[in-house]
Amino acid sequence: MPPVNALSRVQAPILLAENEIAAFRGRLTGSLYGPDDPNYEAARSVWNGMIDRRPALIARCIGVADVVEAVKFARQHDLLVAVRGGGHNVAGTGTVDGGLVIDLSPMKAIRVDPAMRMARAEGGANWGELDRATQAYGLAAPGGVVSDTGIAGLTLGGGFGWLRRKYGLSCDALLAVELVTAEGAVLRASENENPELFWAVRGGGGNFGIVTAFEFRLYPVGPEVMQAIVLYPLEIGQVALRFFREQMRNAPDELSSFAILQRVPPVEPYPKEWHHKSTVIFAACYSGAPDDGERVVQPLRAFAEPIIDLSGRYPYLDVQRLFDEDYPHGRRYYWKSTYLDSLDDPVIDRLIAHAEAAPSDHSTLDVWHMGGAVGRPDGDTAFRSRSAPYHLSIEANWDKPVDDADNLAWAREVHRDLMRFSDGSQYFNFPGFLEDGESALRQTFGDAYSRLARVKGQFDPDNFFRVNANILPAR
Ligand SMILES: Cc1cc2nc3c(=O)[nH]c(=O)nc-3n(C[C@H](O)[C@H](O)[C@H](O)COP(=O)(O)OP(=O)(O)OC[C@H]3O[C@@H](n4cnc5c(N)ncnc54)[C@H](O)[C@@H]3O)c2cc1C
Repeated sequence: MPPVNALSRVQAPILLAENEIAAFRGRLTGSLYGPDDPNYEAARSVWNGMIDRRPALIARCIGVADVVEAVKFARQHDLLVAVRGGGHNVAGTGTVDGGLVIDLSPMKAIRVDPAMRMARAEGGANWGELDRATQAYGLAAPGGVVSDTGIAGLTLGGGFGWLRRKYGLSCDALLAVELVTAEGAVLRASENENPELFWAVRGGGGNFGIVTAFEFRLYPVGPEVMQAIVLYPLEIGQVALRFFREQMRNAPDELSSFAILQRVPPVEPYPKEWHHKSTVIFAACYSGAPDDGERVVQPLRAFAEPIIDLSGRYPYLDVQRLFDEDYPHGRRYYWKSTYLDSLDDPVIDRLIAHAEAAPSDHSTLDVWHMGGAVGRPDGDTAFRSRSAPYHLSIEANWDKPVDDADNLAWAREVHRDLMRFSDGSQYFNFPGFLEDGESALRQTFGDAYSRLARVKGQFDPDNFFRVNANILPAR
């Protein structure tokens, strides 16, 4: 199979014989849906309402053997493959027009070994499920901040969450993966088994195979943690963001925080007179002892008269679900990413101007404070951009198709403008797919790109797994 244009997510119709489809279905323990199946419509939908793709077939796998069958069937019939874990990729790389979706969402088995402080989770689990299983023992793996995001896509691309500055990224906590290759072979990768592959899957995304199981190192967290959520008017946004910047200079690693620029949702408990008005939110989680956390987050709460202060001691599981309601399935989403070299005053000015100009009340600009353990991984991984002090996610979130053009234009303009304050690297988990393709990946991965391309060349020389932030195989 020749390497196809990496940006191609559409396959020309391929005629599949009914008897071959039936034989494939018969070999699966899970289900196989085609367009005539009553389950097809629900099965083809992904989280982002902007994505409306029609795969030829959707294989809902139950177990490694199903994944192997699906890979072999796709190869035999030259089908373009999309791999789905939690279905949350913003650009919809968990589905494909005309090809085969290999959907791991039924594969959710999780086993926790509290004595060894490790968990094994299948590739279709989401963070809510993994957190629930690990918190039963007072443990956690560093995950994302929305509970129904898949562990798979998020971990393979890096993984930023509330524990990042204390325990690093999700990919840093990996001990091993079990993976089905483009040839349909089942491999394990860890520091000692296929170490180059293990290096590549920790930050290189879904380029190298289908991960059927992740093994995570766990850390003691909770059950309660101190969380700060304080809303201030955007009128004092400039002073607020300067204050945030100064506070973060000496923040302990236990504190992982954001400053979020968004409008106040028109719901309880926010005061009515503030609904739809622009704010700066200080959002932080202290992952150590809550008593210490109260002291550490106090300045963020006392900086000025807040619109509302929702801070308190919360179960870690609730903190992990805090933003869930802001990201309903089916809304329209278009996201961009850039690291920031600083939060200097010119950056702050631009952030405030862009927040005010957002066409949708649901859109946000999220300034993630990085550093801490993010910059000190335990071992070498493919993930790059570990030294940036901040990351900016630009989230256009809106409801109506008629507003698509305005929201896309806003996100693109913010990105174009703020990229000036970065070294050009991006975190590709947020956009989900890089419109500037390989050049953006090269920029982000730097020297590591050619090593990634070699691993890709070894494990997927035909670029079978290409519906992703695609690394082209070295020849
Ligand atoms: C609401 C929301 C909140 C988010 N919050 C965070 C956050 O806090 N921190 C953060 O870092 N990111 C966050 N993200 C971004 C997130 O990391 C990406 O969207 C990620 O792709 C989601 O993974 P998924 O498994 O749900 O996606 P899917 O759409 O299922 O998969 C995305 C891609 O991952 C690969 N993939 C999926 N499963 C497998 C597998 N088993 N084996 C190999 N490859 C696979 C494939 O290339 C696939 O195209 C968030 C996204 C959303 C939508």
